[in-house]
Amino acid sequence: MTVRTRVAPSPTGDPHVGTAYVALFNSVFARRHGGQFILRIEDTDRERSDVASESMIMDALRWTGIEWDEGPDRGGPCGPYRQSERVDIYRRHAQRLVDEDRAFCCFCTPDRLDALRRAQRQRGETSRYDGLCAGLDPAVAASRVEAGEPHVVRMRVPSDGACRFKDRLRGVIEIPWSQVDMQILLKSDGFPTYHLAVVVDDHMMGITHVLRGDDWITSTPKHELLYRHFGWDMPEHAHLPLLRNPDRSKLSKRKNPTSLHYFRDVGYLPEALLNYLGLMGWSMPDERELFSVDEMIAEFDLDRVSTGGPVFDLEKLNWLNGQYIRNLSPAEFADRVGQWALNRDRLERLVPMIQSRTERLIDLAPQVDYLLGERRALSADLFQHRTLTEEDCKRVLHHALAMMTTLRAWEGSVLMRECRALSEKMDIKLRDFLFPLFVAVSGRATALPLFDSMAFLGADLTRTRLRSAIVALGGISKKATKRLDKEFAALAQN
Ligand code: GLU
Repeated sequence: MTVRTRVAPSPTGDPHVGTAYVALFNSVFARRHGGQFILRIEDTDRERSDVASESMIMDALRWTGIEWDEGPDRGGPCGPYRQSERVDIYRRHAQRLVDEDRAFCCFCTPDRLDALRRAQRQRGETSRYDGLCAGLDPAVAASRVEAGEPHVVRMRVPSDGACRFKDRLRGVIEIPWSQVDMQILLKSDGFPTYHLAVVVDDHMMGITHVLRGDDWITSTPKHELLYRHFGWDMPEHAHLPLLRNPDRSKLSKRKNPTSLHYFRDVGYLPEALLNYLGLMGWSMPDERELFSVDEMIAEFDLDRVSTGGPVFDLEKLNWLNGQYIRNLSPAEFADRVGQWALNRDRLERLVPMIQSRTERLIDLAPQVDYLLGERRALSADLFQHRTLTEEDCKRVLHHALAMMTTLRAWEGSVLMRECRALSEKMDIKLRDFLFPLFVAVSGRATALPLFDSMAFLGADLTRTRLRSAIVALGGISKKATKRLDKEFAALAQN
């Protein structure tokens, strides 16, 4: 048997460090066994997926040095590798399940499902579909479909007993069917959900081992049932421990940088980052901490993966990156610095901001310190302002961040337009609105123009600075975050 593994990111935002982590383990495992590693783009959520995010993910993975044998960009024998181009395949498979009465058409309206969910929640029950359409006469259902009535396809699940499946790292896992919902397989727009698409694709692409985050464990019964219904062998599953914030919550950008672009832009070496990710839940037999991907491949063994959630510790990553930096030859070091930011290209991007403000060339460095270097640490008193309170500053920073996460084009003019619009909606003078952003980005009271600075720094560094500014102002509680999220959503609607 040829080992075939895959990573299957959804292009719904920044390229996440967790994607590189899962890709690393899958590619290392495939290489260890002389197999193939595949990149599949899971873009069936039409509202959230976008092409820009897909190419960012591919660029970021390429930057790490992880290579795939088959994928949307390279093709291969099992293509297409983008799920949105495989919709007919999923529809055919969903139809097969309906024909065999393993799935049924459900005509319940979103309103009915909302009411159901609310009532269940009030009774303290987990929300799930109540099976109203499961009992429809198939002939009646077929004629309603024929008449064009909106519907989804749901899978039937056993009403009693439990699903048992093997997890390579945990042994046999048992989950009662009573905890498994009658999952939607095909949405009313004719697109599949993840659950149908993942099973069909893993089978059709010959995937032998699924190494994915352990947040998918509870979904596995649905997949196991689908494999059985289709009469296919289920690939071996190994659920990798998810990366954690230092407080052990799931790694999130509120508490840690998570975008691969961030790591690239602040100058982590990709080989150091991969080494670090290799230490997440895995260790070399001799416990040494410095190793290359090739060394990892030579020693890799799934039995050495531990299931306790590894904490993503920036201090440790910094230390490791320092080891790699110091091991470079002087010429390599100079090359890396050049590739990173001290190059003609980057300098040319600074010129419009600095040329007119420069009398002697030596004045240049102090002006751009926060653009080429780390911004100085912030304290709350930097945010003292004539009219804005600290709470106002936090509100502005929160809303600006929320706005920025929805931006697709990261350009000075777009940022200016959006900030102006937001300040008007918040009824704050633009000048005042920009003040906390200015401090957050530059750490200073005077600096180069704000929007040009943000454009130069890029989305990831800018947003990380805004987030750390909120922390410097004492942070925002969970409750207040909820309130501000709501407030922002309402403003955004106007
Ligand atoms: N699209 C899923 C995700 O981004 C893939 C999960 C899986 O590997 O099965 O998490």
